[in-house]
Amino acid sequence: MEGDATRVLVGLDEYEVIDALERDDGVLEVHVQVPRSEAPCPECGTFSSRVKQRRRQEVRDGLCFERPTVLVWHKRRFRCDTPDCRGSFTESTGQVPPRSRLTTRLRDAVGRAGRTRSTAEVAGAYRIGWWTAWGAIAAAATAAIAARPVAPPARLGLDETTFRRPQRFATGLVDLATGELWDLVPGRSKAVVIDRLRRLDDEHLAGIDDVVIDPFAGYKAAVRELAPGARRTADRFHVVRLANQAVTDVRCRRQQELTGRRGRKHDPFYRARRDLLRASERLTERQAARIHAAFAADAPAEELWAAWIAKEGIRDLYAKSDRAEAETFLDGWLEVFGACGIPELERLATTLGRWREEVLNYFDSRLTNGRTEGRNLTIKAVKRSGYGFRNFDNYRLRVLYRCG
Ligand SMILES: [Zn+2]
Repeated sequence: MEGDATRVLVGLDEYEVIDALERDDGVLEVHVQVPRSEAPCPECGTFSSRVKQRRRQEVRDGLCFERPTVLVWHKRRFRCDTPDCRGSFTESTGQVPPRSRLTTRLRDAVGRAGRTRSTAEVAGAYRIGWWTAWGAIAAAATAAIAARPVAPPARLGLDETTFRRPQRFATGLVDLATGELWDLVPGRSKAVVIDRLRRLDDEHLAGIDDVVIDPFAGYKAAVRELAPGARRTADRFHVVRLANQAVTDVRCRRQQELTGRRGRKHDPFYRARRDLLRASERLTERQAARIHAAFAADAPAEELWAAWIAKEGIRDLYAKSDRAEAETFLDGWLEVFGACGIPELERLATTLGRWREEVLNYFDSRLTNGRTEGRNLTIKAVKRSGYGFRNFDNYRLRVLYRCG
């Protein structure tokens, strides 16, 4: 009767409990054996009942009565009597795979817990080693990712991200309909996107209707090559960021030219460095005053002012209500800043000229990579909990498992 109760508690059908005791350290030690007199030889399949040897295997199981539990399996080694085989073999069960240090059910529980918690947290909760926990989480993540549909999203975002400092880039492939990551590939190049898309068959490739791209030439080339039918849209947030970067580049260059050194705390340029990037309609009076002080310090050259006007122009562009208006405005902008004599702005104009079609497509598609807050937070959380992933594959597993 008491034996039956323990057996239910332990819940591993293939075993019977022969003893249970509590160790000094609070760990519950449950001794079990397989209640059958013979086992099949894995080599020849013949059943043998000749026990050659007994040994104990300790396997971590879940928590019983809130206490960590160790199964001590009194395991038998059988002799195989088949003439050409004549080996010996150890019995095995589905609940405790060979060489495993965890029961299958503990492994599954650890793997599930690792979806939302860091490896260290899970290892601590189940009182197992970090690497043992990581092995279980990686296996669960791999299985979950393999079970996902292979078809790419009809609206695909290509989004660059970093996964480690010093900067290692990764390319996120995002389902824009759900905001979820579809896949993550290492690096940021035409080749990595081509490699990923080549794993799809033609029908799947033809199913990609829209692609939103960070304005990076490699991404565009890859999409044009493998999904030529997809409408390409330049990600608006990245386009605005390019314009912001031009303002910062002009500011830093002018600082050097005027003072022969980098900006310091009381320099008007330095004081206005963030205000210059803010939307003009949201500036407070103090912020506006700092900007005007910076413009005054740059007179009579007015290069900083020109950069700021160029940046505000890109923001105005995105306020246009239709493609025709946007087209007229963008072409005017390109004409003015493409030959303004300020190298940073001419460079920006060259880039946007190359992306003209993709920039304008926004006014038809209205799509952005607009990093859904959830995905962004998830990637950050994974980064934080991973103690800086040294290995891209591990990082990918964790991010996709969490986002999937
Ligand atoms: Zn055999």
